[in-house]
Amino acid sequence: MIRLLDQYDLTAYNTFHLHSTAERFFEFTETEDLLLFLRYEGLGERHLILGGGSNMLFQKHIPGLVIHPNIPGIVEVDEDRNQIYWEAGAGVEWDELVDRAVKFELGGLENLSLIPGKVGAAPVQNIGAYGAEIGERIELVRFIHLESGKMMELKGEDCHFAYRDSIFKNELKNKVVITSVIFRLDKFPEYKLDYGSLKAEVEKLGKTDLESIRQSVISIREAKLPDPKVIGNAGSFFKNPVIDLDLARDLTAQYPHLPVYPLGDAQVKLAAAWLIDHCGWKGYRKGDAGVHEHQALVLVNYGKASGEELIDLSHQIRNTVQAKFHVLLEPEVNIIG
Ligand SMILES: Cc1cc2nc3c(=O)[nH]c(=O)nc-3n(C[C@H](O)[C@H](O)[C@H](O)COP(=O)(O)OP(=O)(O)OC[C@H]3O[C@@H](n4cnc5c(N)ncnc54)[C@H](O)[C@@H]3O)c2cc1C
Repeated sequence: MIRLLDQYDLTAYNTFHLHSTAERFFEFTETEDLLLFLRYEGLGERHLILGGGSNMLFQKHIPGLVIHPNIPGIVEVDEDRNQIYWEAGAGVEWDELVDRAVKFELGGLENLSLIPGKVGAAPVQNIGAYGAEIGERIELVRFIHLESGKMMELKGEDCHFAYRDSIFKNELKNKVVITSVIFRLDKFPEYKLDYGSLKAEVEKLGKTDLESIRQSVISIREAKLPDPKVIGNAGSFFKNPVIDLDLARDLTAQYPHLPVYPLGDAQVKLAAAWLIDHCGWKGYRKGDAGVHEHQALVLVNYGKASGEELIDLSHQIRNTVQAKFHVLLEPEVNIIG
């Protein structure tokens, strides 16, 4: 199935629920569809690859072509003594894949329960939560290279996975459309329960298995994060900043309660939420654009905010954090328009 539409409304295609129009919108469900499109229509001057829009902030008009891969399907492609390999299409809802793996008692994805978005976007920022990152589970990524119009693939170990980062956000950014991903799943899972309150939450359920881990992650996330179906947001707006040890020493001398996570290499990671909260932003609202009342890292659209208003708010936040802590926050969300 393909759909090619002009001036297409993207309100339902971004979790901020921002009203935005794509100049051209191309949706496809089979790899061959995009290959033919590239051969006969061409890319044009500008393009954007759009999954579920849960990591996007759209301005009013998106010029050029929006490519929306909606390839379905989850199939088993290989098996060895300890592992099973599943290939999932780029258009599969991420949490549907996690749910299916847990139901089949296959381990590796359970800590990543309830992350919004599609399978095709998961390798892009190496989605992570509760002590797990998807890069650890990716065997192979298949994609279409847009310029050459050729199918290609990369092994997981060649995807340069790092904290919220991969080759798809750097050398291959906007150059390839991921069509499917092969995941390595464990038949005899080892549970990862060390992160935050996960272990305590699992213990409350009285048994430790993949299903109880999934349910615990879901409960913690539902209690902590606003549901995008109810209130527009794109999860963490900024990345947690990494700074040099010297600056960290100065800051901890001034702010003894500053949370600091050592990384080695004379660098440390700070909690962006703490910095934003200590600049007084939590619960701020102007018009319909605001900062969530319980989560300083989450910018929200209470109804009719525009992308431009949210961008303006993010700049104000970044400037006050820089003035107070000398730390530059970088957005995790992709700002488009
Ligand atoms: C409430 C909430 C909670 C969240 N929690 C987390 C979390 O815990 N951990 C985490 O890591 N993220 C989290 N996120 C962010 C988001 O869910 C992930 O980044 C997700 O992978 C985005 O998927 P998507 O399909 O919506 O991608 P989109 O937002 O549509 O796109 C994201 C990026 O990937 C590119 N892209 C998308 N599909 C493809 C493709 N097929 N081929 C090539 N490039 C592609 C886009 O061009 C863009 O650069 C959260 C978001 C929300 C709203």
